[in-house]
Amino acid sequence: MRTPVVLGCIDAPFPRSNTLPMRQDQAQTGRADKHVPAIGPGPLNNKLLGSLPHEDFQLLIPHLSSVQLAQGAVLAEPGVTVDHAYFPSSGAVSLLVVMRDGKAIETGTVGREGIVGAMSGIGPCKWQVRAIAQLPMFAGKIASTEFRKAISSSKAIADLCLRSNEGLLTQARIVAACNAVHRLEARFCRWLLQTRDAAESDTIMLTHDFLAQILGVRRTSVTEVANTIEAMGAIICSRGVIEIIDLEMVKALSCECYETMREQMSVS
Ligand SMILES: [Zn+2]
Repeated sequence: MRTPVVLGCIDAPFPRSNTLPMRQDQAQTGRADKHVPAIGPGPLNNKLLGSLPHEDFQLLIPHLSSVQLAQGAVLAEPGVTVDHAYFPSSGAVSLLVVMRDGKAIETGTVGREGIVGAMSGIGPCKWQVRAIAQLPMFAGKIASTEFRKAISSSKAIADLCLRSNEGLLTQARIVAACNAVHRLEARFCRWLLQTRDAAESDTIMLTHDFLAQILGVRRTSVTEVANTIEAMGAIICSRGVIEIIDLEMVKALSCECYETMREQMSVS
């Protein structure tokens, strides 16, 4: 059986407390650095974990470790048994459907509002998608066996899994319609806005190759669209970086799907 390779991944245990090992400057600004900091945000930065009652959270924390993921790190491949679940505490994970010819397209993302591999907490299952780190990020990681034990004694944690899965279904419905109906320029801007929210920054480290993979189009198509939007004055593209300089223009160029997702997936 293949085992997913997690590239650029560093594991470390979380402290056994509810405190956030977040740097003071980040705690004050609530914004992430352009590069992943040496000390990442704690597990409670994940909104689902943060919503748990203290006693339920204590069932998980002994089994959570902190992983630092490089952009593009592969967490899962389709057909492989899900043996861990991840709670993003910064950044986001892209979930891609992989076709038999190797082409892939993003059908959803999981940020601080969700869980990657949530259904492995309900019962043994296999990955249906490829999961890759969309941005440099941190996540809490738990073995699915420990996750199931915690869920067996906590309805609140079981509810987290169901909420996370509902969020993915909502996204899948919207993205399916978006991919079929909306132009690449609008989809590009929708994705940029989603990623800006996950990165908590107007500066996003992102190559056109990576974006082409996410959007399921050729690299040249991404470059053409990026050049058009840059010429309008909404973004600046430099090597491996896209900077949003006119947020309102990017929103105006995006399709309705960005706002629809925000409305339907709000967990706070
Ligand atoms: Zn759309």
